[in-house]
Amino acid sequence: MILLLFGPPGCGKGTQASFISDSFHIPAISTGEMFRAECKAGTVLGKTACAILSRGGLVSDDIVNQIVAGRIAQPDCASGFLLDGYPRTVPQAAFLDELLAKRALPKPAVIHLDVPSEVLVARISARRQCPVCGHIYNLLSQPPKTAERCDADGAALTCREDDTEAVIRQRLEAYEKLTGPVIDYYRSGAYFRVDGNRPPQEISREIAALLAPGPPWGESARAADQELAGAR
Ligand code: AMP
Repeated sequence: MILLLFGPPGCGKGTQASFISDSFHIPAISTGEMFRAECKAGTVLGKTACAILSRGGLVSDDIVNQIVAGRIAQPDCASGFLLDGYPRTVPQAAFLDELLAKRALPKPAVIHLDVPSEVLVARISARRQCPVCGHIYNLLSQPPKTAERCDADGAALTCREDDTEAVIRQRLEAYEKLTGPVIDYYRSGAYFRVDGNRPPQEISREIAALLAPGPPWGESARAADQELAGAR
């Protein structure tokens, strides 16, 4: 199965990506993580990407497309894969379509984790981090035992600079503007909007039910798996 996971910042995409990867035994590929790893390793690509990432810009379609094409050709993707953070533009979506068609792979299914902006703003602005050990708390869902103090070392918790309400709203607006057309691109296919404003386990259960064998998705999942097996 080939899956694309969409959702705004703070929607719990990382948690659901791990759940899907573990449950369906497919790699969860995050283009953002790939770029961060290249940055850390100091590769030529990493040096270009680092500058772009630090000013919050987008890496060019050509670079991202090539990196994704290389990654999904790896043996661990033979039974399918989940993409997180890609495609982010309509040309990237068109490139992915072409790439899958060339390799006789099925069209992707899309899971869109939808969470109202107001909930995201409240969630993200409740995030706190320990400046000493780096542990992340959330005053709403994972509060420390003592108010605003780290459980491990007692340090006063801090708020990340980009977790202020104004910055969060800016990030959400940028996300909407960018991703809206990409979601529209997929809406007529195997597109599933999932209410992300619920406890993570409940969301995982719904995703599992959507993707498990059984109509309506099951038929297309089986067909997709057969196509994948045939393409190997
Ligand atoms: P993320 O962790 O998905 O928010 O990605 C972190 C950063 O990596 C983004 O802000 C972009 O600079 C870059 N990036 C990740 N995926 C893409 C993509 N599909 N297209 C362009 N840039 C990307």
